[in-house]
Amino acid sequence: MSLSSNSRSKPQGGYDAAPLEEEIQYLRRRVQELMKEKIALQRDLEHYKSEVTRLLSPPLIEAVVLEVLDDGRVIVKSSTGPNLIVNTVAGIDPQSLRPGMMVALNNRASTIVSVLPNRFDPIVKSMEVVEKPNVTFNDIGGLKEQIREVYEAVVLPLKRPDLFRELGIEPPRGVLLYGPPGTGKTLLAKAVARESGATFIRVVASEFVNKFIGEGARLVREVFRLARRKAPSIVFIDEIDAIGARRLELGTSGDREVQRTLVQLLAEMDGFDPLGNVKVIAATNRLDLLDPALLRPGRFDRIIEIPLPDKQGRVEILRIHTRRMKLDRDVDLEMIAEITEGFSGADLKAVVVEAGYNALRRNSKVVNLTDFLRAVEKVRRRLKNSSRVEGSSLLHT
Ligand code: ATP
Repeated sequence: MSLSSNSRSKPQGGYDAAPLEEEIQYLRRRVQELMKEKIALQRDLEHYKSEVTRLLSPPLIEAVVLEVLDDGRVIVKSSTGPNLIVNTVAGIDPQSLRPGMMVALNNRASTIVSVLPNRFDPIVKSMEVVEKPNVTFNDIGGLKEQIREVYEAVVLPLKRPDLFRELGIEPPRGVLLYGPPGTGKTLLAKAVARESGATFIRVVASEFVNKFIGEGARLVREVFRLARRKAPSIVFIDEIDAIGARRLELGTSGDREVQRTLVQLLAEMDGFDPLGNVKVIAATNRLDLLDPALLRPGRFDRIIEIPLPDKQGRVEILRIHTRRMKLDRDVDLEMIAEITEGFSGADLKAVVVEAGYNALRRNSKVVNLTDFLRAVEKVRRRLKNSSRVEGSSLLHT
């Protein structure tokens, strides 16, 4: 005869089932606890397993894409040194790769296994992009002739390409401004952008160099891609000598890289329509250093000198920078211009700022002649102490 579990749990003949039930409850709880523990341990095991795999896996090799061949293989410059011809893993379409992209090679350096995210480009950080610069030709002292030349070479073709088409003349693709520092080259380029209703994009050419192989050229391409997107636009390349200096021999790989960057810039310029809506203005303090390839017709074929201001120019610059200043009646800007021969626009601005500080120290809201004379002496002292060549600028803003 079989007993039901009910009849079994009832005390029979003095037998008490309670301790047994307790025991069962206890074991059930234990089973549950152990199950939980098992899950936790399994989780730990997975974690340590993946850690071990990660620690045992060989490192990937960083490389830069140089070229994609027609057969789908890719030439890369590996960070370990040589140029390599490699394939890509199934998930990566070689045609989606572009020169200058960062990729990872497997440890035998035979295959591209992933495309690395673009590292932060310092050039993008230092690049200045202004949709509507707040500088007009009225903010530039002196330089009347230079303003006229730049107007004809850049502003007019951007605003009235029809005039050039009718006359059958080609405006220059690029304009090169040269002269001592602080004489208003950047200011002029900004005003040109403003007057032509163009976006102002400023890059410093030295930022193109000291990059990975292929990086400089890629950055040049990026800048021009941006310029086309923001067109009409003015690309202002400051310190062009950093990539455009004449080289007697291409000794080091660094030299070759700079050369490659310059070639990319020339290719971009050659690719322009002279009547298109992207213009290049470059600036340098050292015209004598430049590679003649840059100055060939169709490239920077308008070269404009931006000299230190003459007396009249200095008066105009002083007027511009004192526009919002309360001047005492004794302040004679002509006289100040007279005694500041050799000062650049930036130096004259420094004089005005310093004179303002002198008034501030006297607790006055009006700037007087003594404030100016002290300021001129202070700036002159700084110019003498700095190792600059006679006539170059002291203060840049
Ligand atoms: P660098 O060659 O060092 O780049 P730069 O020639 O481009 O110098 P700017 O940056 O244009 O010089 O000038 C610096 C500052 O000096 C200007 O922001 C402006 O305040 C003042 N300045 C220079 N030249 C003039 C000028 N002709 N008229 C008015 N202000 C000027």
